[in-house]
Amino acid sequence: MSYGLYIVTTKSNDKNAGYIGNTVFQVTSDPAQIAISCHKKNSTAEKIIESGIFAVSVLGINANTSLIGEFGFMSGSDVNKFKDIEIKTSQTGAPIILDSAIAWFDCKVVSKLDVGSHLLIIGEVLDSDVISDEEPLTYAYYREKYKMFSPKNSPTYIERERLEQEKPATAQKSAKAAAVEEKAAESADKAEKDMSVYTCLICGYQYDPEEGEPGSGIPPGIPFADLPDDYKCPVCNAGKEYFKRNY
Ligand code: FE
Repeated sequence: MSYGLYIVTTKSNDKNAGYIGNTVFQVTSDPAQIAISCHKKNSTAEKIIESGIFAVSVLGINANTSLIGEFGFMSGSDVNKFKDIEIKTSQTGAPIILDSAIAWFDCKVVSKLDVGSHLLIIGEVLDSDVISDEEPLTYAYYREKYKMFSPKNSPTYIERERLEQEKPATAQKSAKAAAVEEKAAESADKAEKDMSVYTCLICGYQYDPEEGEPGSGIPPGIPFADLPDDYKCPVCNAGKEYFKRNY
C-alpha cells in the first residue's frame, strides 16, 4: 500500500502532543472527513480522545529528518517535541505544525472504532490550508532514502528480530565493546580504517562511511568511529552509543 507521512497533533489539558503517522486518509468529501489510525500505546491517541480534536500536517518531500525523528521515535515524556518549531493554533485549538509541512487539516473527532492494537479515529475537517506547492513526502520515498522501517507503534510496523534483541542498555554495552575493539584494532594496524556500516538501534537508520552524510556535512570516507562524540542519528536524534556495527 502507498502512504504519505503526516504529523498528527492535539492539545489536551493545556499540553501539546503529537506523532508521525502514515495512516491518514480521506473517508468522505461532503462533509470533509479524514481518518487516522493511532496505536493505543501512543499517548497522543488518549489525548485526542480526551480533547476531541486533532490536526494533521502533511509533510513535504524535503521534511527535516530530525523533526521526523522526534515525532516518530521519541516520547513526549523524554523530549519537548514542540520546542523550537513553528506552530499555528487552529480553530479547534490543536497545535498545527508548520515546519516541514506543505498543508494542514484541523479536525473535530466525530467517531472512533476500536480495531485491536489501534484506534481508528474519524474527524470532520473544520479548517485546512495549503502552505506550499512542494511535493508531499511519501512513506515509500522516506523508506528508500533513509533505509528506514516503521516505529514500533506504527500500523505498518513489522517486527525485526535484530532490533527486538537489542535494548538500549545492551546497545550501549555493545557500542562500548565495539569502541574497545576498534581501539585495539587501531593500535594493531593504524592504517586499517573500519569502514563498517553502523545501524541506529532506535530507528534503523544506517550510517555508511562510503556515502558519509552529505545532508549533515559529513563527506564520504569518514569511519563511524571518527564521527564527533556529539554525532546524532539524522532520523531519530539518538546518540552514537545507540549505533551498532553491522557484520
Ligand atoms: Fe535513529
